[in-house]
Amino acid sequence: MFTSDTHMHTLYSHHGEGTVDQLCRSALAKGFDLIAITEHLTLPDFEDPERHYSMAPEEQPIYIEQIEEARALYPRLRILCGCEVDWRQGEAALQWIDQWSEPFQIKLGSVHMVPDDKGNSRPFDSPGNPEVWQELGPDEVWRRYFRLWQDAAASHRFDIMSHPDLPKKLGFYPSFDLGPYYQQMAQTAAAADVLVEVNTSGLRYKVGEMYPNPELLREFNQAGVGCAIGSDAHDPALVGADFDKGYQLLRDCGYREITVPLGGGERKHIALG
Ligand SMILES: [Zn+2]
Ligand SMILES: [Zn+2]
Repeated sequence: MFTSDTHMHTLYSHHGEGTVDQLCRSALAKGFDLIAITEHLTLPDFEDPERHYSMAPEEQPIYIEQIEEARALYPRLRILCGCEVDWRQGEAALQWIDQWSEPFQIKLGSVHMVPDDKGNSRPFDSPGNPEVWQELGPDEVWRRYFRLWQDAAASHRFDIMSHPDLPKKLGFYPSFDLGPYYQQMAQTAAAADVLVEVNTSGLRYKVGEMYPNPELLREFNQAGVGCAIGSDAHDPALVGADFDKGYQLLRDCGYREITVPLGGGERKHIALG
């Protein structure tokens, strides 16, 4: 089976470790055919003042160059040069995203921040920084998350929408029924023809389960939304981590294939063995 891992990070995330070269070697050692290296796209200084969530502006060209070098060095591995975009609301954020993500072959759409009542984007998934959960309460964090997720999915800017139910990461859930929101997410993704991903990293956090949960993944499948798979490794040793469980989750939710983005909107369909 042609195997791919289309979500992983390097030391340029400033909260992960490992070089581009180490990721490629790990992927080759584990027999992968394709990887997408998807570093967190540069954020403006005011949204990441301590440079804890994203590449510094001056690091982006170095990162791209290192991926090009790795491609020449490891022709057996198909390596996509990608980024993971923090979707935020507002015209200025949109212009920023378009400008900075322009050089990349593959773009993941992610929502890691929701706006507070002053309109400032606040991270909700960083274990050391959950104040926004106390300030807004779980219902409001989830509502604001869904609103942004839908906008991002419908924006036609992304190849894959990452970790679709990320707000569960720290174990906070809303009081309302998530079912109708899941249906809307599936319809939006289907209408926009954007892929979603099974992201195995949730197994390594407090929530202890992959993204998305089976209920949401079933909705995606029923709506005809294609699904990729990613480890979200922030350490080269974790490339492809728990993919056996990811494949099983896909099968359990009715998927018969994995959809692999190849860059430039091209896709490959791989039957699940
Ligand atoms: Zn992410
Ligand atoms: Zn990621």
